[in-house]
Amino acid sequence: MTSRSLVCTVALFAALLAAALASPIKLAAQNDPSWTRPFPPFRIAGNLYYVGSEELASYLVVTPKGLILINSSLQASVPLIKKSVETLGFHFSDVKILLISHAHFDHCAGSARLIRLTGAKYFVMDGDVPVVESGGKRDFQYAAHADMRFPPAKVDRALHDGDTVRLGGAVLVAHLTAGHTKGTTTWTLNVSEGGKTLHAVIVGSPNVNPGYKLVANRNYPQIAADYSRGFDVLKGLPCDLFLGAHGSYFGMKAKYARFKAGDNTAFIDPGGYQSYIADRQQAFEQELKRQSAGGR
Ligand SMILES: [Zn+2]
Repeated sequence: MTSRSLVCTVALFAALLAAALASPIKLAAQNDPSWTRPFPPFRIAGNLYYVGSEELASYLVVTPKGLILINSSLQASVPLIKKSVETLGFHFSDVKILLISHAHFDHCAGSARLIRLTGAKYFVMDGDVPVVESGGKRDFQYAAHADMRFPPAKVDRALHDGDTVRLGGAVLVAHLTAGHTKGTTTWTLNVSEGGKTLHAVIVGSPNVNPGYKLVANRNYPQIAADYSRGFDVLKGLPCDLFLGAHGSYFGMKAKYARFKAGDNTAFIDPGGYQSYIADRQQAFEQELKRQSAGGR
């Protein structure tokens, strides 16, 4: 849910923050204007477009049978996403399928509103379905945090690891990369650009939030095993276009500046992808080691 830099910053003071604040993440969100700062929509490659804010990433897959949208983000994001879709020349009402990266409010709080406006069908990984349908009340970590809740939305199709979502010739694959939530999903799709096929990977979130219990977690006993399995999955995915639920995962602003300057390969970054995953795995393993040794 948090940006990578935010996680790093907050991690330094995690114990202090946990004691001092009921909900450090939400506080950070309220203080982070990049989450709702508009960003120019653009075509990444092939039929894949960016329609998110500066930090909360939303993606549009354009097909002859309609549009697929990944991440409704905040309730306040919905008008921004709508404007981005329309600026690109598409109709918001053509969004047929809504997907998410994971069931935290910064990626799914806008879903109920977006579904009302478009009539889109909502497909969510099975582990995140109870969280989405309860508006966050069933979240393993934040159930007691009223300020982390969001409008509930009914799921039309529960997805399972490896399921495909198909529309108008587009095929998206849902990879379960759980741990951050029980249904965190990394989406992959192939796009055609300049006669080449590019593998796009939209990372769901490999981050361990402040306060997450990786050892003896009664609400999520297999959390550490899920993270480990998720890293194995992520490391095995072929990746040309490195993307993710937050712009900061993949350095979007800097890459976009290069892209605008004429470098149409700016988002092709298989090395950056592997480095990011390795860095996040190391952070997870350090935290697991610390907690296993009795650190809280
Ligand atoms: Zn999250």
